[in-house]
Amino acid sequence: MGGDEKNKNTDSKVITEFRIHGFSKPDYRSQFLEAINYCPLCGTELFFVHKTDFEYWSVEEEAHCPTCHIRTNKQSFSLQ
Ligand SMILES: [Zn+2]
Repeated sequence: MGGDEKNKNTDSKVITEFRIHGFSKPDYRSQFLEAINYCPLCGTELFFVHKTDFEYWSVEEEAHCPTCHIRTNKQSFSLQ
C-alpha cells in the first residue's frame, strides 16, 4: 500500500500551496496604497512632506492635497 501514502503527501502539499495563495491578496495592497496616496475628497495625488528631527531621531510624515489644502496622515517614525 505504498501508493496510498504517496497520494496523501501530494494532497497535503496542494493544500499548503492553496493557503499561501489565499493570504497574498495584491488587490488589498494596491487599494490601501491608493487610499493613502490620493486625496479622499478630490482624488488628487497627495504631496508628502517629511520633517526629520535629528535631536530626537524621529521623522514626521505629513500629506497635503494641493487642490483642497487639507492635511492628512500625520505620522511619526522613530529612527532608532
Ligand atoms: Zn483634494
